[in-house]
Amino acid sequence: IGVLALQGDFLEHKKILAKIGSDVREVRLPEHLNDLDGLIIPGGESTTIIKLIDTYGFRDAILESVNRGMNLWGTCAGMIVASKKLTDPYPEPLGLIDIKVSRNWYGRQINSFEVDIPFKNIGPKLFPAIFIRAPFISSVNESDDSIEILSRLADGTPVALTQRNENYKALVTSFHPELTNDLRVHQYFVQMSK
Ligand code: GLN
Repeated sequence: IGVLALQGDFLEHKKILAKIGSDVREVRLPEHLNDLDGLIIPGGESTTIIKLIDTYGFRDAILESVNRGMNLWGTCAGMIVASKKLTDPYPEPLGLIDIKVSRNWYGRQINSFEVDIPFKNIGPKLFPAIFIRAPFISSVNESDDSIEILSRLADGTPVALTQRNENYKALVTSFHPELTNDLRVHQYFVQMSK
């Protein structure tokens, strides 16, 4: 599993992957994508991450890698980067999962919150979800059978989902499993990338 290490909390992802015994690599240049089973785009600042993706020539390289079967997981800013469309005119996301996203939906840094929510396919125990200036999935076609909603807030807002594409699977979470001691979402991604 690779963790895109351009900006944001890639170290936290790396630590959890190491804890669960997964072979993990920091991805700093497009050639580091070679042979990966999965790539995590971490939380951070999405405009910066997208700028660096373009500066370092990652846009086509990531597309080529998912087309040969590399799976993808975006957390928070990473979900913004992976999405098909933003409600903002700029920056241009990668379009790897069929959702539309609004950034900074839940307010400012001090409006960050943590809530225990159900998360499908990882067992019945609630997952401690940490939201930090989190994005909001403003549009997703829930009747598309390639899409599976994994987690929702109490008001029904989807906050984690997967999409099965022809060559790869994408996972997005608008919160930060890498900031918890709960390893289950990382285990889930590793498992789905085998
Ligand atoms: N608000 C950030 C953005 O727009 C995302 C924050 C995060 O990753 N915690 O990129």
